[in-house]
Amino acid sequence: MPPADPAQMSSSSSYYQWPADASDASDLTRQLGYYGYQIEAFADFDDLLTASERQPPQGMLLSCEGLATLTEAARTRLRELASAIPLIGISDDGGIAARLAAVRMGCRAYFTRPCDTASLLDALDRIAAVEERAVGRILVIDDSAAMAGLHAAYLKDAGFLCDIVTDPFRALDVLEESPPELILLDMHMPGANGEEVAKVIRQQDRYLSIPIVFLSAEQDVSRQREAMSLGGDEFLEKPIQPAHLISAVRSRIVRYRALRSRMVCDSLTGLLNHSTFKERLEAEVRRSRRRGGALSMAILDIDHFKLVNDTYGHPAGDRVIKSLARLLRQRLRGSELVARYGGEEFAVGLPEAPLEDAMRKLDEIRERFAAIEHHAGQQTFRVTLSAGVAQSGAQGQGDVLIQAADEALYEAKHGGRNQVRGRAG
Ligand code: GH3
Ligand code: MG
Ligand code: MG
Repeated sequence: MPPADPAQMSSSSSYYQWPADASDASDLTRQLGYYGYQIEAFADFDDLLTASERQPPQGMLLSCEGLATLTEAARTRLRELASAIPLIGISDDGGIAARLAAVRMGCRAYFTRPCDTASLLDALDRIAAVEERAVGRILVIDDSAAMAGLHAAYLKDAGFLCDIVTDPFRALDVLEESPPELILLDMHMPGANGEEVAKVIRQQDRYLSIPIVFLSAEQDVSRQREAMSLGGDEFLEKPIQPAHLISAVRSRIVRYRALRSRMVCDSLTGLLNHSTFKERLEAEVRRSRRRGGALSMAILDIDHFKLVNDTYGHPAGDRVIKSLARLLRQRLRGSELVARYGGEEFAVGLPEAPLEDAMRKLDEIRERFAAIEHHAGQQTFRVTLSAGVAQSGAQGQGDVLIQAADEALYEAKHGGRNQVRGRAG
């Protein structure tokens, strides 16, 4: 079966390319399409400009030879667009003069032909990561609904998502339901004060590093200091200016993300690591038991990967691993868990997906992966994967689910590889 038509797939990022007749246009379109990047090619430069103004793309791939032929007015227009739309120059010429000309046109990245798809994808991912900065989720704990609402309103205006808890006894439930990236905590509350709540939160390993910012009318510096020593990261005094609150929160979240990504992510691929996946999967299993929704998971393993390393070298093997990681990230977004489970093994968790849906999704990924061309020096090769999928039962447990997926993977391997097998839980 031919791979699915990239243009029909959802969650894609759209790029414009000009000119359409560049030698690499159709090949790039096809290769990038497998990862969910849609490329729309324009033959006419004016059409490109019109389209960019109507519907700004995520970026533009431009032939530098083409740029040299443009009128001064067209160049000026393009330079203006470059401040909002990332431009990527592609050229036959790797010399400094050509690169400089591209930089002056506003190009953020520059590639020489033949274009190395892997590095081009890295550049597109970097651009997408900057554009797509995830919104932060903040938990506001304050016994005064009015106060909590006011601070949440400031933060929402700045683009954050906020959950409000006015009863400190509910804090742990909300933490588990929708884990925040920062907790804004009042000090004086009936039932349990802020210091106590901070201690309770910090006693749990998984909340050890989450930033806790006290926001309180408390002016006694020694009490402020004491609260900080119990696990707070910062002490802000009420009343607070919105701009002050937002900048304090934002910088804490940025640091927290950097720190956490080192703890929870695999360094080669940026996907969740093994232990984090297991933790998150357990949380998903608990959630599906509570709510009764379906939950599936899959383990994917690259076929004959040892042979890839032996034939094309370890660095080429690493690039294959990265390409599968990228494909998974593109195909599975939002609430789905994607992890590098081991060397050339990956795991995904699919909340709300019954077995058949999960198998269909995995089979589509299998097909797309098999269609990707990998490069090592002058050689081109293709690689396949096998996957085992399992659905969690009503009394599901993470370990049992993982084992069922593993058994299904074993069947897929023994059934001839390059296939997806499933197990009902
Ligand atoms: P099968 O189809 O049965 O899965 O065969 P396989 O060769 O893929 O499986 P096997 O488990 O025998 O070999 C996996 C290989 O993956 C061995 C190991 O050297 C390689 N590997 C593991 N981690 C990495 C990595 O990070 N980079 C590279 N390049 N290779 C890795
Ligand atoms: Mg393996
Ligand atoms: Mg393998």
